[in-house]
Amino acid sequence: MKATREVQERLLALQQLDSDLIQIKHKASTLPIAKKFDEVNKELQAKRDLLVAANTERLDIKHELSRAEVDVEQVVSRIERDEKRLSSGLGTPKELEQLQHELGSLAKRRAELEEVELEIMVRVEGIDLRIKELELESAALETQVNDLRVKKEEELSSLESSAKSTTDSRTQLAPTIDADLLALYEKIKASGDGVGAAKFAGNQCLGCHLIMNSAELTRIKALPDDEVVRCEECRRILIRLD
Ligand SMILES: [Zn+2]
Repeated sequence: MKATREVQERLLALQQLDSDLIQIKHKASTLPIAKKFDEVNKELQAKRDLLVAANTERLDIKHELSRAEVDVEQVVSRIERDEKRLSSGLGTPKELEQLQHELGSLAKRRAELEEVELEIMVRVEGIDLRIKELELESAALETQVNDLRVKKEEELSSLESSAKSTTDSRTQLAPTIDADLLALYEKIKASGDGVGAAKFAGNQCLGCHLIMNSAELTRIKALPDDEVVRCEECRRILIRLD
């Protein structure tokens, strides 16, 4: 295959653009900021789950507290009723004595129930504090996630515009290369690691870094400038620059 030296150099420039595109793509898919964003976002979701659980727990404790309050109120109203009857002095001495006895038991019961109520109130305070902490932590994480999102999008959009300008250059350059040479290049590029053409520098293929033996070197040097040469090792198109 034949191609002028200028065309071969343009092919090398095209290879550079294609390599740049691969690099940009790789960069976009491995952005450290994107990884960080995912990590912090996950942390935020976990914190929000804890917050939902804490709020549910708070509701349960509040229900428990309401029940405990009702229990105390019931005992208190029985005590008030008994005290009223006692202070009225109505009833037989035996009945009054029974009332006295009941009041003693009720006072004990009231103390027990108030103790339970107090314990629940302490638990409400505890969960309130925990919710407050979780809310603060969530808010801090949310700020962090939003900042990271903005930075990530900035980096991605800058890579996107690089990719776009590189693609534009490629679109302009490709038609200036002979169709059969371009087709060969695309074929080699697709079968390899995205490199279809490589510089031939000194006695080395910069595609696979093979050093040519002197016989091969002499053969290549003897070929006319417009001869399309390929590396014996990696089969890539070799662009002779000297
Ligand atoms: Zn090679």
